[in-house]
Amino acid sequence: MDLDSVECVSSCDGMDEDEPSHLHHQFAKLHGAAALNGATPAPGISPTTSINELLECPVCTNSMYPPIHQCHNGHTLCSSCKTKVQNRCPTCRQELGDIRCLALEKVAESLELPCKHSSLGCPGIFPYFSKHLHESQCNFRPYNCPYAGSECSVTGDIPFLVTHLRDDHKVDMHTGCTFNHRYVKSNPREVENATWMLTVFHCFGQYFCLHFEAFQLGMAPVYMAFLRFMGDETDARNYCYSLEVGANGRKLIWEGIPRSIRDGHRKVRESHDGLIIQRNMALFFSGSDRKELKLRVTGRIWKEQQSSESGVCIPNLCS
Ligand SMILES: [Zn+2]
Ligand SMILES: [Zn+2]
Ligand SMILES: [Zn+2]
Ligand SMILES: [Zn+2]
Repeated sequence: MDLDSVECVSSCDGMDEDEPSHLHHQFAKLHGAAALNGATPAPGISPTTSINELLECPVCTNSMYPPIHQCHNGHTLCSSCKTKVQNRCPTCRQELGDIRCLALEKVAESLELPCKHSSLGCPGIFPYFSKHLHESQCNFRPYNCPYAGSECSVTGDIPFLVTHLRDDHKVDMHTGCTFNHRYVKSNPREVENATWMLTVFHCFGQYFCLHFEAFQLGMAPVYMAFLRFMGDETDARNYCYSLEVGANGRKLIWEGIPRSIRDGHRKVRESHDGLIIQRNMALFFSGSDRKELKLRVTGRIWKEQQSSESGVCIPNLCS
């Protein structure tokens, strides 16, 4: 079984890459740059431009962080490239040795740079060494596309992703905080094929993704429905949702807090944080013939009263 074909491999690759250096150049504030250059900079040339170029690894062009290495002739190199060049300086081909470039490390310490998501609204300015860490957790960083049916590398803010889901993935959009959904599958024995669905709900001025997926839990195929909030985890905690599925006088009810789309749908699925329906139960709910899967899932989203201590831990319900 190849469940990966169903995955939305919304990896962060490429997102946390260092941005083109012109962003640094534009904003960089270097204390004492003129002193470093030994004189006032030439007219028209920003001293910060050259500093930022100095801090770019000449091999991989990423920003260099300590330890920054150099060869006997002074060519610099980031520590990850150093491990790959077999002790040869990539610039002059001389033996590399094990020399730290402490002067450049000191220069880096003095830099303050804006978050690379400043164009998305982040006002933060950070010391060179903590900028990277901030950016990996910045609230303004783009979201990955929440679509789970195929690999999709699109990223963006929420309004952009809502449009993208509607136009490019043809996702159903609903307005309102209650829903009543029918999932039909003609051959319920097939779990491997993409038995998943995504519907987007718009209420309270926010967007929510309702996922319905089939997967193998141990040896047994199961169905799972869960909600994700299109926004950050702190905002997700302001909402609750319930899901119900049933027939013939039996009913399963799930009540939970939507997960942020910062958590991949696979992560949510693997933590079992949603309504899980065993296949026998699903077939029972589908009616008498057991030939077709026909599940009616009803649900509701509501706003939670503020309670500051809730939601500190994200459940992982698997043992
Ligand atoms: Zn490098
Ligand atoms: Zn060299
Ligand atoms: Zn930021
Ligand atoms: Zn997408």
